[in-house]
Amino acid sequence: MNHPEIDPETMTQILQALRQQNRDESQRSKSQRATVELDQSTTGRLSRIDALQAQAMAEASERRRGHQSQAIEHALKRLERGEFGECIECGEWIAKARLELDPTVLKCIECAE
Ligand SMILES: [Zn+2]
Repeated sequence: MNHPEIDPETMTQILQALRQQNRDESQRSKSQRATVELDQSTTGRLSRIDALQAQAMAEASERRRGHQSQAIEHALKRLERGEFGECIECGEWIAKARLELDPTVLKCIECAE
C-alpha cells in the first residue's frame, strides 16, 4: 500500500508538475547547451572561456535534470504499484515531511544517512 498519510492523487499531480517543470527548464536551456563557436574572431579568448564554462554548467544542470526525471518516473511507478513512501531499505514508512520536501526519496532518514 501507499503511504497512509499521503493522498496518491495529490502526489501524482505534484510529481507530474515536477516532471513538466523539468521538461520546460530543459527546453529553455537548450541554447545554453549548444556547442560553443570556435571562431576566435567573433569571440575573444576570455569570453570564449566564459562561454565554455557556462555551457559546462548548463550541461551539468541537464544531467541533474535527467537523474531527477528518472527519479520522478520511479516515484510515479511506486504510486501505481502501491509502494509509495515505503523505505526501500528497511520497509518502514518514510516521514511525511520528508516526502513532501522531496517526493522522489526512496529511503527513510535513518537509512539515508
Ligand atoms: Zn529505512
